[in-house]
Amino acid sequence: GISVHFHLGGGGFLGGKPRILRAVENVSFAIGEGETLALVGESGSGKSTLGNVVAGLQPPTAGTLRFRGRTLDRATWPQARRSIQIVFQDPFGALDPRMPVSAIIAEPLRIQGIGTPAERRARTAALVEQVGLPVDALNRYPHEFSGGQRQRIAIARALAPDPALIVADEPLSALDVSIQSQVLNLMKELQERLGLSYLFISHDLAVVNHLVDRVAVLYLGRLVELAPRQLLFDRPSHPYTQALLHAVPRIGRKRARGQTIKGEMPSPLNPPPGCVFHPRCPKAQDVCRTTAPILEPAPGRAAHMSACHFKE
Ligand code: SF4
Ligand code: MG
Repeated sequence: GISVHFHLGGGGFLGGKPRILRAVENVSFAIGEGETLALVGESGSGKSTLGNVVAGLQPPTAGTLRFRGRTLDRATWPQARRSIQIVFQDPFGALDPRMPVSAIIAEPLRIQGIGTPAERRARTAALVEQVGLPVDALNRYPHEFSGGQRQRIAIARALAPDPALIVADEPLSALDVSIQSQVLNLMKELQERLGLSYLFISHDLAVVNHLVDRVAVLYLGRLVELAPRQLLFDRPSHPYTQALLHAVPRIGRKRARGQTIKGEMPSPLNPPPGCVFHPRCPKAQDVCRTTAPILEPAPGRAAHMSACHFKE
Protein backbone atom coordinates (compact mmCIF):
# COMPACT_ATOMS: atom_id res chain seq x y z
CA GLY A 1 0.00 0.00 0.00
CA ILE A 2 2.84 2.40 -0.71
CA SER A 3 2.06 5.99 -1.61
CA VAL A 4 4.53 8.83 -2.06
CA HIS A 5 3.18 12.36 -2.23
CA PHE A 6 5.38 15.40 -2.58
CA HIS A 7 4.01 18.65 -1.22
CA LEU A 8 5.07 21.42 -3.52
CA GLY A 9 4.59 24.45 -1.33
CA GLY A 10 2.40 27.02 -3.03
CA GLY A 11 1.46 30.39 -1.64
CA GLY A 12 4.93 31.63 -2.62
CA PHE A 13 5.65 34.20 -5.28
CA LEU A 14 3.56 32.20 -7.72
CA GLY A 15 0.65 32.29 -5.29
CA GLY A 16 -1.97 29.61 -5.45
CA LYS A 17 -2.83 26.65 -3.29
CA PRO A 18 -0.24 24.15 -2.10
CA ARG A 19 0.01 21.40 -4.68
CA ILE A 20 0.47 17.68 -4.15
CA LEU A 21 2.47 15.61 -6.61
CA ARG A 22 1.18 12.06 -6.35
CA ALA A 23 4.28 10.20 -7.52
CA VAL A 24 3.20 6.79 -6.23
CA GLU A 25 -0.35 5.88 -5.33
CA ASN A 26 -1.25 2.82 -3.23
CA VAL A 27 1.13 0.31 -4.83
CA SER A 28 1.52 -3.23 -3.46
CA PHE A 29 3.71 -6.08 -4.62
CA ALA A 30 5.98 -8.78 -3.25
CA ILE A 31 9.35 -10.04 -4.46
CA GLY A 32 10.31 -13.62 -3.71
CA GLU A 33 13.72 -14.95 -2.78
CA GLY A 34 15.86 -15.30 -5.89
CA GLU A 35 13.17 -13.64 -7.97
CA THR A 36 13.48 -10.77 -10.41
CA LEU A 37 10.53 -8.43 -10.60
CA ALA A 38 10.62 -5.80 -13.31
CA LEU A 39 9.10 -2.41 -12.66
CA VAL A 40 8.23 -0.96 -16.03
CA GLY A 41 6.85 2.41 -17.01
CA GLU A 42 7.41 5.58 -18.98
CA SER A 43 9.58 8.32 -17.57
CA GLY A 44 7.62 10.11 -14.85
CA SER A 45 5.57 7.02 -13.94
CA GLY A 46 7.04 6.94 -10.43
CA LYS A 47 9.26 3.89 -10.84
CA SER A 48 12.45 5.46 -9.47
CA THR A 49 10.55 6.94 -6.54
CA LEU A 50 9.14 3.50 -5.77
CA GLY A 51 12.62 1.95 -6.13
CA ASN A 52 13.99 4.51 -3.70
CA VAL A 53 11.27 3.60 -1.22
CA VAL A 54 12.16 -0.09 -1.46
CA ALA A 55 15.84 0.76 -0.97
CA GLY A 56 15.05 2.86 2.08
CA LEU A 57 16.14 6.14 0.50
CA GLN A 58 12.67 7.69 0.38
CA PRO A 59 10.15 7.37 3.18
CA PRO A 60 6.66 6.55 1.90
CA THR A 61 3.82 8.95 2.70
CA ALA A 62 1.64 5.95 3.43
CA GLY A 63 1.99 2.18 3.44
CA THR A 64 4.50 -0.26 4.87
CA LEU A 65 7.47 -2.29 3.73
CA ARG A 66 8.01 -5.79 4.98
CA PHE A 67 11.26 -7.68 4.74
CA ARG A 68 11.42 -11.38 5.62
CA GLY A 69 8.13 -11.07 7.46
CA ARG A 70 9.10 -8.04 9.52
CA THR A 71 7.68 -4.57 9.09
CA LEU A 72 10.46 -2.09 8.41
CA ASP A 73 10.40 0.88 10.73
CA ARG A 74 12.89 3.03 12.59
CA ALA A 75 13.86 0.09 14.78
CA THR A 76 14.14 -2.61 12.12
CA TRP A 77 15.56 -0.67 9.14
CA PRO A 78 19.12 -0.50 10.54
CA GLN A 79 19.37 -4.31 10.51
CA ALA A 80 17.65 -4.73 7.16
CA ARG A 81 19.63 -1.97 5.44
CA ARG A 82 22.64 -4.10 4.54
CA SER A 83 20.31 -6.64 2.92
CA ILE A 84 18.73 -4.16 0.50
CA GLN A 85 21.09 -2.33 -1.83
CA ILE A 86 20.66 -0.16 -4.92
CA VAL A 87 22.44 0.30 -8.25
CA PHE A 88 21.69 3.53 -10.09
CA GLN A 89 21.28 4.33 -13.74
CA ASP A 90 24.19 6.70 -14.10
CA PRO A 91 27.50 4.94 -13.41
CA PHE A 92 29.28 8.27 -13.87
CA GLY A 93 27.37 10.25 -11.28
CA ALA A 94 27.02 7.40 -8.79
CA LEU A 95 30.72 6.99 -7.97
CA ASP A 96 32.75 9.56 -6.01
CA PRO A 97 35.53 10.66 -8.41
CA ARG A 98 37.94 11.33 -5.51
CA MET A 99 37.75 7.84 -4.08
CA PRO A 100 39.78 4.87 -5.33
CA VAL A 101 37.72 1.86 -6.32
CA SER A 102 38.74 -0.04 -3.19
CA ALA A 103 37.26 2.68 -0.96
CA ILE A 104 34.10 2.96 -3.10
CA ILE A 105 33.37 -0.75 -2.87
CA ALA A 106 34.17 -0.91 0.86
CA GLU A 107 32.04 2.14 1.64
CA PRO A 108 28.81 0.36 2.68
CA LEU A 109 30.87 -1.94 4.91
CA ARG A 110 32.66 0.99 6.50
CA ILE A 111 29.45 2.98 7.01
CA GLN A 112 27.72 0.07 8.67
CA GLY A 113 30.75 -1.03 10.62
CA ILE A 114 30.87 -4.47 9.02
CA GLY A 115 34.17 -6.36 9.43
CA THR A 116 37.68 -5.28 10.39
CA PRO A 117 39.76 -3.18 7.94
CA ALA A 118 41.65 -6.33 6.93
CA GLU A 119 38.41 -8.24 6.35
CA ARG A 120 37.03 -5.35 4.33
CA ARG A 121 40.16 -5.32 2.16
CA ALA A 122 39.86 -9.05 1.50
CA ARG A 123 36.15 -8.73 0.72
CA THR A 124 36.77 -5.82 -1.65
CA ALA A 125 39.46 -7.73 -3.53
CA ALA A 126 37.16 -10.74 -3.90
CA LEU A 127 34.30 -8.55 -5.15
CA VAL A 128 36.43 -6.91 -7.83
CA GLU A 129 37.15 -10.34 -9.21
CA GLN A 130 33.55 -11.48 -8.87
CA VAL A 131 32.26 -8.65 -11.08
CA GLY A 132 34.94 -9.25 -13.70
CA LEU A 133 37.24 -6.30 -13.09
CA PRO A 134 41.06 -6.61 -13.14
CA VAL A 135 42.72 -6.86 -9.71
CA ASP A 136 44.62 -3.62 -10.27
CA ALA A 137 41.26 -1.82 -10.48
CA LEU A 138 41.35 -1.47 -6.70
CA ASN A 139 43.87 1.35 -6.66
CA ARG A 140 42.47 3.23 -9.63
CA TYR A 141 39.84 5.97 -9.81
CA PRO A 142 36.40 5.97 -11.48
CA HIS A 143 37.46 8.23 -14.38
CA GLU A 144 39.89 5.54 -15.53
CA PHE A 145 37.02 3.19 -16.36
CA SER A 146 34.44 2.87 -19.11
CA GLY A 147 30.71 3.10 -18.41
CA GLY A 148 30.31 -0.67 -18.32
CA GLN A 149 33.23 -1.07 -15.93
CA ARG A 150 31.87 1.68 -13.70
CA GLN A 151 28.57 -0.15 -13.52
CA ARG A 152 30.53 -3.24 -12.45
CA ILE A 153 32.10 -1.15 -9.69
CA ALA A 154 28.64 0.02 -8.60
CA ILE A 155 27.43 -3.59 -8.59
CA ALA A 156 30.44 -4.67 -6.49
CA ARG A 157 29.64 -1.90 -4.01
CA ALA A 158 26.02 -3.07 -3.83
CA LEU A 159 27.18 -6.65 -3.26
CA ALA A 160 29.65 -5.74 -0.51
CA PRO A 161 27.31 -6.11 2.48
CA ASP A 162 26.00 -9.43 1.11
CA PRO A 163 22.48 -8.21 0.28
CA ALA A 164 19.38 -10.30 -0.38
CA LEU A 165 17.71 -7.75 -2.66
CA ILE A 166 19.18 -5.31 -5.14
CA VAL A 167 17.12 -2.48 -6.55
CA ALA A 168 18.56 -1.85 -10.03
CA ASP A 169 17.26 1.48 -11.33
CA GLU A 170 17.71 1.36 -15.10
CA PRO A 171 21.21 -0.08 -14.68
CA LEU A 172 21.71 -0.47 -18.44
CA SER A 173 20.12 2.68 -19.83
CA ALA A 174 23.29 4.80 -19.77
CA LEU A 175 25.44 2.08 -21.36
CA ASP A 176 26.29 1.37 -25.00
CA VAL A 177 24.07 -1.33 -26.44
CA SER A 178 27.10 -3.57 -26.95
CA ILE A 179 27.90 -3.35 -23.23
CA GLN A 180 24.32 -3.78 -21.99
CA SER A 181 24.18 -7.54 -22.53
CA GLN A 182 27.50 -8.03 -20.72
CA VAL A 183 26.22 -6.25 -17.62
CA LEU A 184 22.88 -8.07 -17.91
CA ASN A 185 24.69 -11.41 -18.07
CA LEU A 186 26.79 -10.47 -15.06
CA MET A 187 23.62 -9.67 -13.11
CA LYS A 188 22.10 -13.02 -14.10
CA GLU A 189 25.25 -14.91 -13.15
CA LEU A 190 25.47 -13.17 -9.76
CA GLN A 191 21.83 -13.94 -9.12
CA GLU A 192 22.34 -17.64 -9.78
CA ARG A 193 25.47 -17.79 -7.67
CA LEU A 194 24.24 -15.71 -4.74
CA GLY A 195 20.48 -16.28 -4.79
CA LEU A 196 19.82 -12.54 -5.13
CA SER A 197 16.43 -10.98 -5.68
CA TYR A 198 16.20 -8.02 -8.04
CA LEU A 199 13.77 -5.20 -8.42
CA PHE A 200 14.74 -4.31 -11.95
CA ILE A 201 13.49 -0.89 -13.00
CA SER A 202 13.29 -0.25 -16.72
CA HIS A 203 11.44 1.70 -19.37
CA ASP A 204 12.50 -0.91 -21.91
CA LEU A 205 10.32 -4.02 -22.21
CA ALA A 206 12.75 -5.69 -24.58
CA VAL A 207 15.50 -5.69 -21.91
CA VAL A 208 13.08 -6.95 -19.30
CA ASN A 209 12.22 -9.98 -21.40
CA HIS A 210 15.70 -11.41 -20.89
CA LEU A 211 16.01 -11.32 -17.15
CA VAL A 212 12.83 -11.19 -15.19
CA ASP A 213 10.31 -13.60 -13.69
CA ARG A 214 7.42 -11.19 -13.31
CA VAL A 215 6.60 -7.73 -14.57
CA ALA A 216 4.85 -4.87 -12.78
CA VAL A 217 3.61 -2.09 -15.05
CA LEU A 218 3.36 1.37 -13.55
CA TYR A 219 1.33 4.20 -15.02
CA LEU A 220 1.10 7.61 -13.37
CA GLY A 221 2.20 6.12 -10.05
CA ARG A 222 -0.37 3.31 -10.15
CA LEU A 223 0.25 -0.37 -10.68
CA VAL A 224 -1.89 -1.26 -13.69
CA GLU A 225 -0.72 -4.80 -14.37
CA LEU A 226 1.34 -7.41 -12.52
CA ALA A 227 1.96 -10.76 -14.16
CA PRO A 228 4.45 -13.55 -14.84
CA ARG A 229 6.69 -12.42 -17.71
CA GLN A 230 5.44 -14.88 -20.31
CA LEU A 231 1.77 -14.17 -19.61
CA LEU A 232 2.35 -10.45 -19.74
CA PHE A 233 4.15 -10.64 -23.07
CA ASP A 234 1.83 -13.18 -24.68
CA ARG A 235 -1.51 -12.14 -23.25
CA PRO A 236 -1.33 -8.60 -21.87
CA SER A 237 -4.55 -7.76 -20.06
CA HIS A 238 -4.43 -4.01 -19.56
CA PRO A 239 -4.88 -1.63 -22.52
CA TYR A 240 -1.80 0.35 -21.42
CA THR A 241 0.40 -2.76 -21.38
CA GLN A 242 -1.05 -3.79 -24.73
CA ALA A 243 -0.07 -0.41 -26.15
CA LEU A 244 3.42 -0.59 -24.63
CA LEU A 245 3.99 -4.03 -26.13
CA HIS A 246 2.64 -2.89 -29.45
CA ALA A 247 5.54 -0.45 -29.60
CA VAL A 248 8.18 -3.16 -28.98
CA PRO A 249 9.41 -4.81 -32.17
CA ARG A 250 9.64 -8.57 -31.74
CA ILE A 251 10.95 -11.21 -34.06
CA GLY A 252 8.91 -14.29 -34.88
CA ARG A 253 5.86 -13.31 -32.85
CA LYS A 254 2.58 -11.94 -33.96
CA ARG A 255 1.93 -8.37 -32.99
CA ALA A 256 0.51 -7.77 -29.57
CA ARG A 257 -3.07 -6.66 -29.41
CA GLY A 258 -3.93 -3.05 -28.77
CA GLN A 259 -3.14 0.15 -30.52
CA THR A 260 -0.31 2.56 -30.43
CA ILE A 261 -0.74 4.87 -27.48
CA LYS A 262 -2.02 8.37 -28.13
CA GLY A 263 -1.19 11.58 -26.32
CA GLU A 264 1.08 12.06 -23.33
CA MET A 265 0.98 10.88 -19.75
CA PRO A 266 -0.91 13.49 -17.69
CA SER A 267 0.83 15.29 -14.84
CA PRO A 268 0.91 13.52 -11.47
CA LEU A 269 0.00 16.95 -10.07
CA ASN A 270 -3.40 16.66 -11.65
CA PRO A 271 -4.28 13.02 -12.29
CA PRO A 272 -7.50 12.38 -14.24
CA PRO A 273 -10.52 11.14 -12.24
CA GLY A 274 -11.62 7.52 -12.47
CA CYS A 275 -9.13 5.35 -14.31
CA VAL A 276 -6.05 7.55 -14.73
CA PHE A 277 -5.46 5.99 -18.15
CA HIS A 278 -8.89 6.91 -19.53
CA PRO A 279 -7.87 10.03 -21.54
CA ARG A 280 -5.53 7.84 -23.59
CA CYS A 281 -7.37 4.54 -23.54
CA PRO A 282 -8.94 3.23 -26.77
CA LYS A 283 -11.39 1.11 -24.75
CA ALA A 284 -12.57 3.78 -22.30
CA GLN A 285 -16.30 3.84 -21.41
CA ASP A 286 -18.30 6.15 -19.17
CA VAL A 287 -17.53 4.16 -16.02
CA CYS A 288 -13.79 4.70 -16.63
CA ARG A 289 -14.18 8.45 -16.26
CA THR A 290 -15.71 8.20 -12.80
CA THR A 291 -14.59 4.99 -11.10
CA ALA A 292 -11.01 3.89 -10.53
CA PRO A 293 -10.53 0.19 -11.33
CA ILE A 294 -8.77 -1.93 -8.72
CA LEU A 295 -5.90 -4.30 -9.35
CA GLU A 296 -7.34 -7.81 -9.35
CA PRO A 297 -6.83 -11.10 -11.16
CA ALA A 298 -7.73 -11.32 -14.83
CA PRO A 299 -10.52 -13.83 -15.54
CA GLY A 300 -9.28 -17.35 -14.85
CA ARG A 301 -5.72 -16.26 -14.06
CA ALA A 302 -5.02 -15.87 -10.36
CA ALA A 303 -1.40 -14.78 -10.84
CA HIS A 304 -2.23 -12.20 -13.49
CA MET A 305 -3.39 -8.94 -11.95
CA SER A 306 -4.82 -6.08 -13.95
CA ALA A 307 -6.47 -2.77 -13.01
CA CYS A 308 -9.08 -2.29 -15.71
CA HIS A 309 -12.89 -2.44 -15.80
CA PHE A 310 -12.65 -4.25 -19.10
CA LYS A 311 -9.56 -6.38 -18.55
CA GLU A 312 -8.91 -9.19 -21.01
FE1 SF4 B 1 -9.18 1.78 -20.30
FE2 SF4 B 1 -11.35 1.85 -18.76
FE3 SF4 B 1 -9.63 -0.14 -18.54
FE4 SF4 B 1 -8.97 2.29 -17.70
S1 SF4 B 1 -10.57 0.98 -16.87
S2 SF4 B 1 -7.70 0.93 -18.87
S3 SF4 B 1 -9.97 3.55 -19.25
S4 SF4 B 1 -10.89 0.34 -20.32
MG1 MG C 1 14.04 6.93 -13.27
